[in-house]
Amino acid sequence: AEMQQRSARRLLLENALRHALERDQFELYYQPQLSLQDGHVVGAEALLRWHHPELGPVSPAEFIPIAEESGMILAIGEWVLRTAVAQAKRWMDHAAAPISVAVNLSAVQFRQARLPERVMQILDQAGLPPEFLELELTESVAMDAPLAAIEVMDELHARGIRMAIDDFGTGYSSLSYLRKFKVSKLKVDQSFVRDLSEDAESRAIVTAIITLATSMGVKTIAEGVETASQLAFLRLQGCDLVQGYYFSKPLPVGQFEAYMRAQKQN
Ligand code: C2E
Ligand code: MG
Ligand code: MG
Repeated sequence: AEMQQRSARRLLLENALRHALERDQFELYYQPQLSLQDGHVVGAEALLRWHHPELGPVSPAEFIPIAEESGMILAIGEWVLRTAVAQAKRWMDHAAAPISVAVNLSAVQFRQARLPERVMQILDQAGLPPEFLELELTESVAMDAPLAAIEVMDELHARGIRMAIDDFGTGYSSLSYLRKFKVSKLKVDQSFVRDLSEDAESRAIVTAIITLATSMGVKTIAEGVETASQLAFLRLQGCDLVQGYYFSKPLPVGQFEAYMRAQKQN
């Protein structure tokens, strides 16, 4: 009975998802990313939200996998990219200090033909310089077919587009490939950050990731920072950037801009 319920829910979501774009049910929220050097907001991660009139809020953790399996992620992902890039361009034009925008890229998108050209076209149309965009890839994107991944990363890098590895430490990264990946950031997975205060192993892992990144000349960002003591540990270890509820939840664009204004007054 439980299996039946689950597949019914899946089918319901898949059908509803087919109309979500045309019915304008998607919205991007933005979560600030702060530099630990000066405390300034230097970027924002764009996180997709789906408002369905009857289903209520559906978590991306639930609907993104369905969008991936059904292929709809290509159209949805393109909408995300266009919307986030247009937003970053508005911030560049109107804000005193421009910030970059980080966009999550699904494995399906990463493997699509001519991805670098597609991304470039979106940037050109919006008039956003490529260094203001960062693509967040997961370890599995890169590791499933590492040689092909290296080629795509090289092309993105050559065009000036930055990349980060999301949820770092949870997959099976081969360190010898990692060396060849042209990423500018490792994103320490929130599961390690969550347990920093209670668990010596998590502390050891986070320290090791930061040391590894530093020696490779790659920056680190910790996600899911919720407490002052997590922040203190990350600062002590030399983590470059932080993101999490301790600073702000992901916010709709208007609230994000209010947060930015309040930051400047401090
Ligand atoms: P992610 O990219 O690793 O994003 C981090 C998730 O952690 C987000 O969940 C964010 O809201 C949440 N988070 C941030 N700070 C904290 C914190 O301090 N504590 C806790 N407990 N959580 C925090 P969200 O927005 O539900 O997204 C879940 C996942 O869905 C994302 O993980 C990402 O893999 C995927 N996703 C979201 N938007 C997109 C998108 O536009 N495209 C694709 N392909 N995937 C997306
Ligand atoms: Mg992410
Ligand atoms: Mg993550």
